Amino acid sequence: MKKEFPLTLQQLKTIYEPDWDLFVEELIPNCFCANCPGPVSIVNYTIVVNDLNDIILTGHCAVCDDSVNRYIETGEDEYYVARIQRVRKEMRK
Ligand SMILES: [Zn+2]
Repeated sequence: MKKEFPLTLQQLKTIYEPDWDLFVEELIPNCFCANCPGPVSIVNYTIVVNDLNDIILTGHCAVCDDSVNRYIETGEDEYYVARIQRVRKEMRK
């Protein structure tokens, strides 16, 4: 029942509203890259929700283009989980 599924950017926005600006300004530019010192931005990322309702961005480092992941623990937050479940339900239609 609960399994990993992909999200579009639009669906991600729906889940993060009204904190979307925070997401773009705080999470996207604060990713860890094994090659680069300090935080980097993740670019060209795909979005999935895993079975724990956590969001995982898989993309590339804006500086060196190596693979970068960003794990966001939305599964710990009831507010986001409720929204993720709504999106999950809509996708089953
Ligand atoms: Zn890098």
